[in-house]
Amino acid sequence: MKINFTILGSGSSLGVPRIDGNFGKCNPKNSKNYRTRCSALLSAKNFNLLIDSSPDIRQQFLKSKVKSLDYVFYTHQHADQTHGINDLRYFYLKQRKAIPVFANTTTSNYLLNSFKYCFIKTSKFYPPIMKLNKLKKKHTFLRNKIKITSFEVTHGSINSICYIINNKLAYVSDVSFINQKNYPNISKLKYFVVDCLREEPHPSHYNLDKILKLISEIKPKYTILTNLHSSLDYEKLKKKLPKFVYPAYDGMKLIIN
Ligand SMILES: [Zn+2]
Repeated sequence: MKINFTILGSGSSLGVPRIDGNFGKCNPKNSKNYRTRCSALLSAKNFNLLIDSSPDIRQQFLKSKVKSLDYVFYTHQHADQTHGINDLRYFYLKQRKAIPVFANTTTSNYLLNSFKYCFIKTSKFYPPIMKLNKLKKKHTFLRNKIKITSFEVTHGSINSICYIINNKLAYVSDVSFINQKNYPNISKLKYFVVDCLREEPHPSHYNLDKILKLISEIKPKYTILTNLHSSLDYEKLKKKLPKFVYPAYDGMKLIIN
């Protein structure tokens, strides 16, 4: 069975261009420099699992022609990963079933406080559209053909989640530090999709130097840099990167199996 992983959005919190059309150092003539906020889709035949609902989720689903939704997993509570949640209402109306959502306790509390109506009946006209579940150490889908494990990483002053799919692909879009004790979880990857905000250091994200150092230690087969700031032009960044390390772009598809 073919299992795909699509990077729906590859941009940092304010996207590229910014709301006022500012491209920063990115060339507006390159379509790979149009970056929406980070979300990703794990898909197989008749199966769609979303990681994070970015504020751009509607456009991302339209672009990738996603017609159904089975599960949503969240990495952390920041606005650029959660605030598109309302647009997922349509799948409740279409599928007539509350969408199962998985998140850690901090993110669950944030979702419940900020988007209560999505999970709890607040009006007789608007039933809850989602069901919140506790994130487990391991989730399996499609008769064990898809296995998702996870561990927590540091993302500035909060924690975020690194998801690992079939021990082959790790997705961690927002991270400033991965504890060495977790290296065994990410030591035999085919794909490492990881935060690389910009060249300059940042308190909540890996920058280019730091991520290249990490890659040299865990040695994934391929590394895809995501959560890219407007200071990183696609072509210029690509030329700077070592072999088997690539900048992400919106709609980039990785084949897991
Ligand atoms: Zn974040």
